[in-house]
Amino acid sequence: MTSQRTRERLVARLAEQGIRNQAVLDVLRSTPRHLFLDEAMAHRAYEDIALPIGFQQTLSQPWVVARMTELLLELGPRNRVLEIGTGSGYQTAVLAQLVDEVFTVERIRPLQERARQRLRQLKLRNVRYRHADGHFGWAEEGPYDGILSTAAPETIPEELLQQLAPGGCLVIPVGGSAQHLQVVTRSHEGFDTRIVDAVRFVPLRPGTVK
Ligand code: SAH
Repeated sequence: MTSQRTRERLVARLAEQGIRNQAVLDVLRSTPRHLFLDEAMAHRAYEDIALPIGFQQTLSQPWVVARMTELLLELGPRNRVLEIGTGSGYQTAVLAQLVDEVFTVERIRPLQERARQRLRQLKLRNVRYRHADGHFGWAEEGPYDGILSTAAPETIPEELLQQLAPGGCLVIPVGGSAQHLQVVTRSHEGFDTRIVDAVRFVPLRPGTVK
């Protein structure tokens, strides 16, 4: 179930469904998604579906992880990247293999702790973790070349836009019952917004959970 062959099949399917960035496909092929799930769910790890990780949260669908990562890297390398919504840590692990440094914020403490252990086990050391409400980003470490949110706000928090470096881009699902991925690029003149795929994410929620 967790064999190399099932992973190959998943990656072939992602390529068929339009993922073009070879580096992203290679990282998805080599990252053990089953380690980011409870044992009861692990046998479904290489299906292209979102899966529950507890606390009413989900590990995003592989196609969505690949697509968001591809959009983030589209305009060139991203050295410092902020992630909102660590969750299982799977998207974090993918990013950590493609950029220099990842700063990741999660509001639910036990999820963050588990993610931290998994990434340590995979020897991914270029990640810094923060237990906080991601609406406010992580200003002390900004600005960022890229920001990726894996939870959806109704409207984009101003703080995230302000923490983008010039040339930086934000990839974020936006909306309530109908959501779209948005890609916001910062230039010296202002912000340029592109609306891409229809998606379905858990909401960006206020406050933190111990
Ligand atoms: N990238 C994750 C997806 C997790 S689902 C993965 O691959 O597993 C979205 C995550 O965003 C959840 O863990 C949820 O707790 C978190 N989240 C929601 N609102 C948040 C907020 N305001 N600040 C930080 N994290 C938040």
